[in-house]
Amino acid sequence: MFAQNPVFIPGPTNMPEVLRRAADMPTLDHRSALFGQILQPALAGVKKVLKSNAADVFIFPSTATGGWETALSNTLSPGDAVLAARHGMFSHRWIDMTRRHGLDVRVVEATWGEGLPADRFAEILSADKARTIKAVLVTHNETATGVKSDVAAVRQALDTAGHPALLLVDGVSSIASMDFRMDEWGVDVAVAGSQKGFMLPAGLAITAFSGKAMDATAQATLPRTYFDVRDMAKGYANDAYPYTPAVGLLNGLKLSTELLLAEGLETVFARHRRIADGIRAAVAAWGLELCAARPDLYSDTVSAIRTPEGFNATEIVTHAARKYDVAFGVGLGEVAGKVFRIGHLGSLTEVMALSGIAAAEMAMVDLGLRIELGSGVAAAQAVYRGAAAPGLRAA
Ligand code: PLP
Repeated sequence: MFAQNPVFIPGPTNMPEVLRRAADMPTLDHRSALFGQILQPALAGVKKVLKSNAADVFIFPSTATGGWETALSNTLSPGDAVLAARHGMFSHRWIDMTRRHGLDVRVVEATWGEGLPADRFAEILSADKARTIKAVLVTHNETATGVKSDVAAVRQALDTAGHPALLLVDGVSSIASMDFRMDEWGVDVAVAGSQKGFMLPAGLAITAFSGKAMDATAQATLPRTYFDVRDMAKGYANDAYPYTPAVGLLNGLKLSTELLLAEGLETVFARHRRIADGIRAAVAAWGLELCAARPDLYSDTVSAIRTPEGFNATEIVTHAARKYDVAFGVGLGEVAGKVFRIGHLGSLTEVMALSGIAAAEMAMVDLGLRIELGSGVAAAQAVYRGAAAPGLRAA
């Protein structure tokens, strides 16, 4: 095919041609000096994207799920207590992994569509006088529900309680598209993946460790081999890996961070905010609602849109793929069939977003939903032209 539509799944995201080419490179000897010229700028670029001066960045040939495992297995020991909230499919999966690693995970259940309840965390952390909780898990952007959580509020809860637990943050669908402040928020381990904000194919788990998290690696006794950051740190000191690195993807990551930093992080975040504002205006014009319960929770990288009671939202995704060759995200877990998702992270412009809004609109009208054709597009156009206040504004 000579023409291709953008995808609107919340990762993997659309790939700029230059990044595709950077990732598709001839074989080079990963034990030669050339490799260091790819690795070191990639590590330095990621650190800047995370707004960190102090973090140690480790990148594994894996996906972000391996990044979760890296965060847990390098900092914790069997039986350690961990605090987490379940409010979507990805926070659920990380909790599941934590259990399977033999950790004592204390789960705060929250409604899907709500963020992490930082006030409950504050109470639990203050009540934990014996300091049994060793880590707090946060899913910064719940991709299943289009909800962002307040990482700074969790840091505040830890500090107010004077609690020493580590702060482990999944930034898989936020990092590089939404603001992420590793140092300012006192994040101890950050986790990302190559196929979201970094606009690359899947295949890299991108992690960053604070000094405190690095100290914890010496005490942690959970079994780890492939994901042991101590081996990785030794390798990096000599521009090498403890095994075979994904050289092409790292080359892509080097360029991806260069592109993001050249655009300017704040400009990138503002672009995603504006695109999201247009999509939210379209949702309001359709008379539909977001899964995210309140504006301060609205994600700028993915919108999960509720469809009317009795309508199977997955049909929109199936129909749009079949008839218009456009990919949207299905609802997952508790919200399966109740929402469909428009992913708007990574390489995306307002004009690309308009095509997704138009395609979603056609699919919904085809399926008999009472939506006026063009209403969402017009609402988004007004936002993108600067002629209207956004419909559902994020706080
Ligand atoms: N965490 C979040 C928030 C995600 O959105 C995803 C994937 O969509 C993951 C973790 C898992 O990432 P991966 O599929 O790269 O292992």
